[in-house]
Amino acid sequence: MIFKNNNKTNDIISFDDVILIPQYSELKTRSNIDTSVLLKKDDTQIKLSIPIISSPMSTITEAHMCNCMRSLGGLGIIHRYNTIDFQAKLLSYASDSNFKAAAVGVTGDFKERLSALASSGLKIVCIDVAHGDHILVKEAIEYIKLEYPNLFIIAGNVATGKAYKRLSDWGADAVRTSVGSGSICTTRIQTGHGVPTLNAVIDCHESKLEILDEGGIPAYIIADGGIKNSGDIVKSLAAGADLVMLGSMLSGTRESPGKVMINNEGQKIKKYNGMASKVAQKNWKGSYASIEGVSSTVRYKGTVSKVVNEIMSNVRSGMSYSGAASLEDLRDKAVMAIQTNNSNIEGNPHIFNRK
Ligand code: IMP
Repeated sequence: MIFKNNNKTNDIISFDDVILIPQYSELKTRSNIDTSVLLKKDDTQIKLSIPIISSPMSTITEAHMCNCMRSLGGLGIIHRYNTIDFQAKLLSYASDSNFKAAAVGVTGDFKERLSALASSGLKIVCIDVAHGDHILVKEAIEYIKLEYPNLFIIAGNVATGKAYKRLSDWGADAVRTSVGSGSICTTRIQTGHGVPTLNAVIDCHESKLEILDEGGIPAYIIADGGIKNSGDIVKSLAAGADLVMLGSMLSGTRESPGKVMINNEGQKIKKYNGMASKVAQKNWKGSYASIEGVSSTVRYKGTVSKVVNEIMSNVRSGMSYSGAASLEDLRDKAVMAIQTNNSNIEGNPHIFNRK
């Protein structure tokens, strides 16, 4: 991806601050567009036919979501906000043995949890902490590489290219990028810290290119948090993300954990909770501290396959606007530009604002 007229700003930028400029295309049909991602670790290859991971959150990914994401060609990571036995049981229900993924933390019962998950066939481990540029993450990666050398390691979250490089050097195979961007997140308000997802992806991708130039093996980049529509997914992939991780866009689906409820207006809704929200913390450990998220309800959306198929149809359309036949092609050909607020407003339906 290049910035039009080198119009790269030093300001921190988010999805709505940029726009992709349509490019010449020779693609005659969108059905030929390849959205697959090949993740390599030593001799192992993990092939996903769509670049989407469902987030390891208690109202997003348990076994049902995991299995549907696999059947759609993506990946689901079973969350860690439960007992070790329950998480291991959920993992054992994951039907595709080569894609059993779960999340772990870096303190407390992390080693016991990892051992139980490994016994349930874990193949991909996600070190799931809010501030991933941390010595405890380094130690956790070192421990996993020593004790479970075949596991594909996802770690994060990080906000900068420097942090991404550190995690890559420590041995992470993929890194989740952005801090404080999630739809249910209050980290920036509570702590004053964070970096938007698009900015983090661009920064991490620059580091990735430097690592490649030096002959190293860089970690894959996962854009995570604040992705609110398929346009943001296309922007993330164009900016250098290999994969995107979705929470809110998959919330409220039939396969997300939790019951369908009816609100006062008679509409079907489901819960969607930030993992650092008071509600989620109380559900998980009976108490709460350092609240950095909110709990919410979202409208019921039907099946996840309907939602993901719609997203992917839009992503393919987005790729064709950049003349890209594959995700790699998209990263090479996409031209991004900073847009003004008026340009952003014009990009949304504005008929409703007229008198
Ligand atoms: P969303 O797709 O915008 O809803 O963001 C989902 C992402 O937000 C997750 O994948 C996590 O990285 C992050 N996240 C989940 N729970 C919390 C929280 O309580 N506070 C801050 N970030 C969170």
